[in-house]
Amino acid sequence: MDIKNFINNEEQIPLSGFWLDNYEPASGTIYGEIPNSNEDDVEKAYQAAKAAFPSWSNTSIDERSKIMLRIADLIEENLGALAAAESRDNGKPVWLAQAVDIPRASSNFRFYGHAITQYATKAHESVGKNTMNYTIRKPIGVVGCISPWNLPLYLFTWKIAPAIAAGNCVVAKPSEVTPATAYLLGEIVEKAGLPAGVLNIVHGNGASCGQAIVAHPDIKAISFTGGTTTGAHIARTAAPMFKKLSLELGGKNPNLIFADCDYDKMLDTTVRSSFANQGQICLCGSRIFVQQEIYERFKTDFVDRVKNLRVGHPDQSSTKVGAVVSAGHREKIEEYLAFAKAEPENYRILTGGNRVIVKEYEKGYYLEPTVIEVSSNDCKLNQEEIFGPVVTIMPFTDEAHALELANGTKYGLSATLWTNDLSRTMRMTQEIEAGIVWVNTWLNRDLRTPFGGVKDSGVGREGGFEALDFFTEPKNVCIEY
Ligand code: NAD
Repeated sequence: MDIKNFINNEEQIPLSGFWLDNYEPASGTIYGEIPNSNEDDVEKAYQAAKAAFPSWSNTSIDERSKIMLRIADLIEENLGALAAAESRDNGKPVWLAQAVDIPRASSNFRFYGHAITQYATKAHESVGKNTMNYTIRKPIGVVGCISPWNLPLYLFTWKIAPAIAAGNCVVAKPSEVTPATAYLLGEIVEKAGLPAGVLNIVHGNGASCGQAIVAHPDIKAISFTGGTTTGAHIARTAAPMFKKLSLELGGKNPNLIFADCDYDKMLDTTVRSSFANQGQICLCGSRIFVQQEIYERFKTDFVDRVKNLRVGHPDQSSTKVGAVVSAGHREKIEEYLAFAKAEPENYRILTGGNRVIVKEYEKGYYLEPTVIEVSSNDCKLNQEEIFGPVVTIMPFTDEAHALELANGTKYGLSATLWTNDLSRTMRMTQEIEAGIVWVNTWLNRDLRTPFGGVKDSGVGREGGFEALDFFTEPKNVCIEY
């Protein structure tokens, strides 16, 4: 598949003539090219967005909503093709893209297509002063949306949908590692009747294309999801221009398992929360802490289950763990594995730790799901985000110890708590430093709730009306009568 930019509802080649290879992780082969856009392409996309803004921002809410619901329908109608494209680009099992990624992309448009019709502002009457204050919320203008490779269409649309619902025009960049579904989205939005210039999709790497979006003086808001180091760089570029920023960054999420939990449900979910999408979900529980009383039982059962997860080609329905996203990413994960192997006194590999050769796809980027027992939470593997099929486990003694371990990282994206003790739940959910705490569940969220991290996991919130707040600016009007 050869991919082009989507600017002004037209496919366009990069002005520089530079292209990047697009790899299929399952086979390790190149299967197409994508534009490596630069500031000239971003400027072209910006101009298209700017030209579309006066009309789109004045388009009635009913009309905007109707178009968004049509986009949602078309994503559903193209579920199979989109899931296949996402899996081919990313290495995730097709069944996962079909069950999670693509339906969620459709839900994003559907949710904001409805939410914008319910978005309201407030009036404040200053009684006794004969004044009335009211607030209006205006779209910002042209905004930038930049997304990562792990949940490609899901996270791309999670930004674009509220941005356009609120009346903005968008310059969006998907990850250069997984461009395919963003490319297909261009066709879909056009078919749904989205006017030219409202959504412009530019492809390319972070340093040229992403940086040009962030550094553009007239793109006044940036919604970014990706790594913490990239987020810090974006903040440094954008801050002197006083851009509005939403940064959804990395995580090192604790999974706290108490002896009083529903053991079977916990075990099933923990296998999923550790290795779904090859462990490449920012919300995966990568540090597992288990209460001493059930530690040995859990260790045996968990390792047993993980050993039985089938690593294989993403097209096969029996595959539980597909390929990781790129050769470079597999090497990064393997560096952590090598580090662990070199320090057996601190790291005990209970299962996994090696490459998997899948027959007929020998060059694919496959890794065994890996469980490593660690002796301290201060170790490298518990402090740095690996973002692959690798989890660590260690025991804790009591609630205070569990809390100290959970909060003992620079990250604060999510946490999972397994307990049936209501008082403990109430105490710990207050104290765990994370944007979301799941209790006896995982990856389960109502789209109306705010989503985001604390500490180095980011600033700003996506989801719900918070995203519409982000993509609009409040203006207060005060009238004395
Ligand atoms: P990344 O930071 O390398 O890239 C993310 C996006 O930013 C890509 O589109 C990339 O091209 C672009 N980019 C890179 N440098 C840029 C620059 N200088 N200016 C502008 N854009 C630039 O992240 P990744 O490897 O694609 O994704 C994995 C990371 O994303 C992990 O750390 C993961 O935890 C995080 N993530 C966070 C969330 C969340 O909601 N908090 C969700 C998913 C992934």
